[in-house]
This record gives sequence, structure tokens and C-alpha cells, in this order.
Amino acid sequence: MTEKTIYELSQPGRQGVRFPEPDVPEQALPDAFLRTEINLPELSELDVIRHFTNLSKLNYSIDGGFYPLGSCTMKYNPKINEEVARLPGLAHTHPLQPSVTVQGNLYLMHTLQEFLQEISGFYRVSLSPAAGAQGELVGALIIKKYHQINKNDKRVKILIPDSAHGTNPATSSMSGFNVVPLPSDERGNVDIEALKTECDETLAGLMLTNPNTLGLFDENVEEVIRLVHEAGGLVYGDGANLNALLGIIRPGDVGFDIMHFNLHKTFSTPHGGGGPGSGPVGVAEHLAEYLPSPIVTIVEEGDDGTPPLFDFYEPKYSIGRMKSFYGHFGVHIRAYTYIAMHGTKGLRDIAEKAVLNANYLMAKVKQDYKLPYDRTCMHEFVVEGAWEDIPDVHALDISKRLMDYGFHPPTNYFPLIVHEALMIEPTETENRDTLDEFASALKSIAKEAREKPELLHGAPFTTPIRRCDEVKAARDLVLCCWIPE
Ligand SMILES: *Cc1c(COP(=O)(O)O)cnc(C)c1O
Repeated sequence: MTEKTIYELSQPGRQGVRFPEPDVPEQALPDAFLRTEINLPELSELDVIRHFTNLSKLNYSIDGGFYPLGSCTMKYNPKINEEVARLPGLAHTHPLQPSVTVQGNLYLMHTLQEFLQEISGFYRVSLSPAAGAQGELVGALIIKKYHQINKNDKRVKILIPDSAHGTNPATSSMSGFNVVPLPSDERGNVDIEALKTECDETLAGLMLTNPNTLGLFDENVEEVIRLVHEAGGLVYGDGANLNALLGIIRPGDVGFDIMHFNLHKTFSTPHGGGGPGSGPVGVAEHLAEYLPSPIVTIVEEGDDGTPPLFDFYEPKYSIGRMKSFYGHFGVHIRAYTYIAMHGTKGLRDIAEKAVLNANYLMAKVKQDYKLPYDRTCMHEFVVEGAWEDIPDVHALDISKRLMDYGFHPPTNYFPLIVHEALMIEPTETENRDTLDEFASALKSIAKEAREKPELLHGAPFTTPIRRCDEVKAARDLVLCCWIPE
């Protein structure tokens, strides 16, 4: 790395802040406050500004370039979201204020609950979970409590397709369930025969991502849900891929019992090192009383001139609280703004363009890369980042080489069921020129892999940090910054 640390830049006597002449007599500070051993760096204001501005430019971001990180929906985050979140009336409220003094905030949260209910077809939504994975944990705990209250303690098994995100088995197992993987069939759908053999009196539920992580719409979704329901189980929908469905189908109408939303994916709030997420959970009517608290509700209807009075309530069989206060309110504001700006037609347009962009890119990329499930995709697709006749080139080499072409790499090695997976999600916010440039970079890399594989093995050549030793990074963690003697 070429950037010097702030300690290396330090020069004795340089000063960033100058205080005005004191208008009271000077006093010596007690020794306890003057710790010389911490060795603070000495720099001018300009040194500091340049240092941090240069550091910030080392990061790749969606504002800087194309970011096709599959499963993460790295769409552009409109700046109006940020402007609204910074309005003093919203940004300067305190979570301990009495609810009568923050009725505007509660109105916003209540409306967002209603937006999400309308978009998804669920009966009620709790905004409190902090991220998608926490939403899944909520779902698993609701499934557990539902069977407990219905005195069904034999139901200890959750089914999870082998294409699922790793958080699905993790949260089910954290909730005390036995996780049973389900194979996918040759079209990338849940294998119905395998599902039938697991539908017994120990079945608590199934977690399904649709479209799944192969970017494919599960063509048997209605039958999957029917089989699980007939066996007495509940169906959890991992809603991370909702971007492909907005305004077209509603998971609640299809029969899902529970689903989380990833506000930071579908509804455009910064993520991936850019800030906290938010994973609200929606449920069908029979599970409304199990949701985590607090939920915003109208306690007194308004009439012509007076607005309704909002407050929080705790559902009767609530699994409890998942998060301090009300969840990530700053993210709620951004998602609310995004949905309000788009409206019904705009939301559908997002899904249609996301699917169109992915299919356009897929048609180009499959000329050079093997597409294991060759059918119309939804908002993303997965290719193999390897060729049988070039055994020493791997998906990781392709991704590293893409950085030299100025692109953020796709998701690597997920889903696990595709050999050397490269998972590509362009999102709706990219134009055709960008998709063409990315496809042509992948085409050049496929050619380099044959003719000059050393370019792939050595890549990246142009980034501030070259190839990391990923094994060492995981085995030999350094979690604090370096401070000199
Ligand atoms: C992102 C994602 C999750 C987890 O969501 P987080 O908000 O990152 O916790 C779960 N499932 C799928 C399919 C995802 O893409």
C-alpha cells in the first residue's frame, strides 16, 4: 500500500487546530490528562484532509462504478434518500422521547409498514429486525413459538434447499431446529420427490428463497407450499430477492406465511460497509400476534382536521424484542422515501428492468462462460468461472482480473451447487453501455485465460492492495490498528 499512515506523516510541531487567545488565566492541566505515551500524531489540517480524502478514494463504491455483486442488489442509492434522512425534524429526534412528541416519525414508520404490506401481500409487518439474517431468526423463532403454542412439540425439523444462503441454515439451527437440506432438480427448482419424503409429523417448516440464489423462479413454488402446509409446517420466504418481483407477484398471495425484506437491497439504502441494514418481517394473518415488538399502530383515529394518534404495541404471543428501540429508523426513512418516490408503477418498472438487464447480460456472458441452468433468469444469474480445458484458472482469478478492468467482482463460490460459481446481478439502475462494457471485459478475460493466464494469476495489478493471502487473512486475524512504539 502506497498511502503512509497518519503516524508516518506526523512531524513534530505541526498543528491542525489553533485556539483563540484565552480570556481567562492559563492553568496547567493535571498530569493525568497529559499522556505522552499515547504518542498522538502531529499534522496540519490540510495533511489530515488529504490523508482521509485519499483513503476514501481507495474504496470501491456504487457511486464510483458498476457493482454486480450477486445476491446483494447493489443498486444506485438515490441521493434524495439521504436528504430526507438528514432533515433535522427526523435526524435530531431521540429514541427516548415520549411517543406523543414524535408523531411524525411514527406516521412514517406506520406508512412504511403499510407500504410493505401492500407490496408483499402480508397482513402485518414489524420493522424492528436489523438485517435480513435477523429477519430469518425472527421467522424461525415465530415458527418455533407457533408450534409450541399449538402443542406440537414433535415439530423439530426445518427444510432448506441446497441453493439457500448460508444464513438460512444458521438461523434455523440457532433457533434449535434440525436442519435438513433439500436437493435441487435439474432445472434448479426444489426437488419435489425429495420434499415429499420429508413431509412428516416432525416437519416444522421450510425456508425458500424465490427467485432462488441461482436467479431462477422456482416453477413449483405453489406445490412446495401446498405440500408443506398439508404436512402441518409453515413456509418462510427469504425475501432478499424481492427486487425481481416488485409489483408483479406478492409472496403473501402465493401462500408464504412469513418473509423478511432487505430494505438495504430492494429499497436502496447503502450497504456493504456503507451503513446498517434493515430486515423487516411480514406475516400472514394467523401469525400477526407473534411478531417482534414494537409495532406502530393507530390508537385513536383522526377525523377531518386532526391526524390519528400513533403509538407502539406488543403483539399477544410476541417472540419479544430483537433490537433496541425501534430498529434502524434512519434506514426506514430512506426506504420510505424510495418507495414514495417510485409509486406503484415505478416499483413494477424496477422489477421489469432488473430482470431485463440480467437476461441481456446473461445472453452475452454465456457466449464465453458455461451457464449450468440455461433458462430465462430473474434479476441475476450464475455462470461457471472455469473451463475444463484450462484447469489452473479459477473463478477467483477471473474476479481479481475484473478489478484491473475497473469493475467490482461478482459474488464468488456461491451458491455452492454451481462449480466455481460467479453470481452476477446487474440491477435495474445500470444502462446498456455499462452492461456492454462489463460483458466485453469478461470476454477479454476469457481470451486472456487461454492466451496469457499469468495475467489472471497475478491480478489485480492496478489496485492499491494486490492479491491478499485469503487463508492467512482468515487464520491470522489482526483486529486492531497498528500503533507505533
Ligand atoms: C443478503 C441475503 C441474506 C441476508 O441478508 P442480510 O441483510 O445480509 O443479513 C439472506 N438471504 C439471501 C438470499 C441474501 O441474498
